[in-house]
Amino acid sequence: MRRRDFAALGLTALGVSARAEGAAFGQMSERFLEALWKLDPDAAVAAGRFEFAGRVTLPSPAQRLRMTAFLTEQLAAFEKLPDATLSTSERMDRALLIGKMRSDLWRLEVLREWSWNPAEHNPAAPLDLLLNTEYAPLRERVRALQPRVAALPGYYRAARLSLAGVTREHTELAIQQAPGVLGVLDDIAKRAAEAGQASALRAPIATARAAVNAYVAHLKTLQPTRGFRLGAALYEPKFQHDIQSARTAKETYELAQQRREEVLASMQEQAAQLWPTVMGSEPVPTDRFALIGRVIDKLSARHVARERFVEEIRAQIPQLEAWVRDHDLLSQDASKPLIVRETPEYQRGVAGASIEAPGAYRPQDKTYYNVTPLTDLTPEQAESSLREYNHWILQILNIHEAIPGHYTQLVHANRTPSKVKALFGNGAMVEGWAVYGERMMIESGYGASPEMTLMWGKWHLRSVTNTVLDYSVHVLGMQEAQALDLLVRQAFQTEREAKEKWRRVQLTSVQLTSYFSGYSEIFALREQLKARPGFNLKAFHEQFLSYGNAPVRLIAAEMLG
Ligand code: ZN
Ligand code: ZN
Repeated sequence: MRRRDFAALGLTALGVSARAEGAAFGQMSERFLEALWKLDPDAAVAAGRFEFAGRVTLPSPAQRLRMTAFLTEQLAAFEKLPDATLSTSERMDRALLIGKMRSDLWRLEVLREWSWNPAEHNPAAPLDLLLNTEYAPLRERVRALQPRVAALPGYYRAARLSLAGVTREHTELAIQQAPGVLGVLDDIAKRAAEAGQASALRAPIATARAAVNAYVAHLKTLQPTRGFRLGAALYEPKFQHDIQSARTAKETYELAQQRREEVLASMQEQAAQLWPTVMGSEPVPTDRFALIGRVIDKLSARHVARERFVEEIRAQIPQLEAWVRDHDLLSQDASKPLIVRETPEYQRGVAGASIEAPGAYRPQDKTYYNVTPLTDLTPEQAESSLREYNHWILQILNIHEAIPGHYTQLVHANRTPSKVKALFGNGAMVEGWAVYGERMMIESGYGASPEMTLMWGKWHLRSVTNTVLDYSVHVLGMQEAQALDLLVRQAFQTEREAKEKWRRVQLTSVQLTSYFSGYSEIFALREQLKARPGFNLKAFHEQFLSYGNAPVRLIAAEMLG
């Protein structure tokens, strides 16, 4: 029975006791979090708890033993809590916490990535965050960083001792990332000088630099013995822990294959319809992929000028806001503006455009839409990016990242503040929502044209193909040539994009399935509810987003309830 049922029945005594239990749950999760931050200062810093700046999470056996003991004890305590006394939100928090602890334990004891992935041991991110977040004056930040920098030789010693049976791909990645770590140390030296503290940091930075170089030298001596493919035995449980879907990985893969066929059939229809106007009197290819590919290729020439890239994205945000408002799709919050900016220099080189949201403990910080300008690219590279983010796709990108995608979802999630949901939110729900948002906008008539439908098809096919690729590579043994053919010829991606994806699928597993997995569950939920009388699209969206970043499976159980 839920807490609101007690209230409805007017059972005051029971209501009070339920509230007391609720408060107890709140205290229990607070205690868990505080203990976790003490045990894992790197995770604390990532969450915005900058007072943990001075300590490092060592990748040592002792640390892993302490963490295993802590999680085992906490897991048992949270599993024992009776559901009946918790509110809907608390039950979801509890499910998220239990899911996180089971997942962490499985990673520590079964997956053991700390032993085979040398790139797991990379101390740069918290250093970078502490140096570049203005949570305190520079002088104080530099002072707080000093013990963390001094701990790096010990960090790398523990990392070296943890490794056994590495993969070639992750070892190469760790070696490639080393200059980035040295770069962050250089930045610290530079900022320390600005803050008049150069001398205090000089020795620790020199020692830390030597430790990074020694780690690289050690990695070069290692003989890789493990393949990068996860294999079925690990893939299925990892999928369950990370995605938290109601389906298995295999079922999700099969569904993606089916969806792929639907999307391709629809794209073929659009391309055939567009052919005479786009391609003129040229003979129509009989091959489906050639037909779609050539129309997409021709249309991609329509794109914004290179120097107007960031400006164009900025201009589209109010247009998307207006569309969502005028079509009554979702409520928005003008008091939480999204700031479109050029990606800060030190963050460049990863994604072209992404939402940067503040950590769970920094809700007062602004939300940025970071866009990397195309200024640093050669003319050929810029042209390739512009064709990729052509007139239509650029709009879909903004829908995905901003409105009504990631940014809008975040604003809604923050209305019911739950640290647990913000910290351990479900990635498949978050990505799935953004992918669902693209489809929902197209359904509402946004940009209505065969060109837009075709380009959305290409973009949507990317999410679907990510799932097919990930499962095929890690479980079914797909080889590089087959993978590149799947991406380039059969999913209309550029050579460069396909090569980057091939690299990503070798270095990660399961994450690539989150887009389609989350999307397919949200879409199925909506279709199920749509069949009920009184269905309202806006009300569905509002209620769906009100649960925060919980797994779709749990939200669906609640909404179908
Ligand atoms: Zn061009
Ligand atoms: Zn996304």
